[in-house]
Amino acid sequence: MKLRKVSAAAATALVLALTATACGGDNGDDNGSDTGSGSGGGDKIKIGIKYDQPGLGLKEPDGTFSGFDVDVATYVAKELGYDPKQIEFVETKSADRENALDRGDVKFIAATYSINDERAKLVDFAGPYLLAHQDLLIKADSDISKGTDLNGKKLCSVTGSTSAQNVKESIAPKAQLKEYGTYSECIAGLQSGAVDAVTTDDSILAGFASQANYKGQFKLAGLKLSNENYGIGVKKGDTATVDKINKALEKMVSDGAWETAVKENFGPAGYKNEPAPKIGDIVK
Ligand code: GLU
Repeated sequence: MKLRKVSAAAATALVLALTATACGGDNGDDNGSDTGSGSGGGDKIKIGIKYDQPGLGLKEPDGTFSGFDVDVATYVAKELGYDPKQIEFVETKSADRENALDRGDVKFIAATYSINDERAKLVDFAGPYLLAHQDLLIKADSDISKGTDLNGKKLCSVTGSTSAQNVKESIAPKAQLKEYGTYSECIAGLQSGAVDAVTTDDSILAGFASQANYKGQFKLAGLKLSNENYGIGVKKGDTATVDKINKALEKMVSDGAWETAVKENFGPAGYKNEPAPKIGDIVK
């Protein structure tokens, strides 16, 4: 009787141990949520980026990824214990970011993701790691020169972006705003004449304007219509990851990797970025 009791307890312990192992493995395969520090952190980490924004987050034809957000994400992942080959990049379009974090599809998002109060109710942010400004991209011969010139004009931005929201609330409430799913669709609309201007962050617009296939066709208005403080989004409540990412971002700035990434990614577009922001310093 006594022996049977011991066996039952041992069996229970074994089941618990197996369950714990299985859970750990699942998390590691899932989004890297089992870990985040030290070396060999889980099998893989899933990170949300943009796929169509040259200089920030771009999926190249050969399947590799480039851009400032990609470099920031790769640096941060390394600090969390993941080598580049353990990273799986996932496309997170502007309107999908909060849901992707909430569902646990990705461990974090580095995708031109501005920190604001509304979003901070749904997700947590590390950073900021870049300060950009909303601007307009127009045809090289366009005479649009200020935000109010847009009233009555066809303007394109992206669903779920601060850019679209700012147009409706303040910049040009009377513009005919077309909201597409991605900025590349807006740029195609500008080229074809379907829209008169595209609005979003100057960092993004500069990247598109410098692409070989658009060279000379477009110009930035240079208006600084807003302050866009890029943060790294994590699931609401995951403050441990926020803290680790903030430490990684501070290190990236202090060891010069931030400056290198800026030069490599924004240099070709001639984008004059703001200096590295201090962690927690949001420019309103
Ligand atoms: N930074 C702005 C935002 O987070 C515009 C760029 C984007 O849509 O990703 O909404």
